[in-house]
Amino acid sequence: MTEICMADTEYRCVCGATLRYRQDLLVDDGARSRTWKCKECLTPVPGIIGERLGHQHPM
Ligand SMILES: [Zn+2]
Repeated sequence: MTEICMADTEYRCVCGATLRYRQDLLVDDGARSRTWKCKECLTPVPGIIGERLGHQHPM
């Protein structure tokens, strides 16, 4: 039984925090684009990572 699913994305922030879920991020809705930041240190997270993590929620 092989189930193909999108592997959970993890992002290791420079501060050492592992970002996995929406709640690990702060969202900054700018005028033109949305900026995702590490909740711990406010370092911007690459947009594509942020978008992906933004859809991940703990079960
Ligand atoms: Zn951080």
